[in-house]
Amino acid sequence: MSRLYRGYVLDERTIAMIEWAEKKAGFRFRISQGSYNEGGVAASAGTHDGGGAVDFSVRLLLPNKRKRMLNALKDAGFAAWFRKERKGVWTQHIHAIAIGCIDLAPLAKKQVKDYDNMLDGLAGRRVDLSYRPNPKVKFSLIKNQPMVRK
Ligand SMILES: [Zn+2]
Repeated sequence: MSRLYRGYVLDERTIAMIEWAEKKAGFRFRISQGSYNEGGVAASAGTHDGGGAVDFSVRLLLPNKRKRMLNALKDAGFAAWFRKERKGVWTQHIHAIAIGCIDLAPLAKKQVKDYDNMLDGLAGRRVDLSYRPNPKVKFSLIKNQPMVRK
């Protein structure tokens, strides 16, 4: 089930994950794109067409705080990356995909694989050596917390 949350369409599990990550990071995040947004943002290349996809604006955050936020999202069970500004394409943001969401768009599913393979999830398939939780986690809505996954 999806609903409007802070002005964006998101499913319940993704909302619970955001709130868990906010608690861990210690501050409230600023959403800039939700899910089920087919045709909404061309630069997202279809990753936001299904469920479990969310972008956050981070342009007002200092690098340390941004990193704390990114790592908290990963600890919650998101495949997440900081995207630097690309002029004419996007402003800086964090792109996050809820791992294990049953409603992911095909490209979002591929990004989860990329995340597990230490890649950046973009077409150029660059290496991304930033933090990953170990062991891997995925969020349980029933337990309202991240659990170990394969
Ligand atoms: Zn995105």
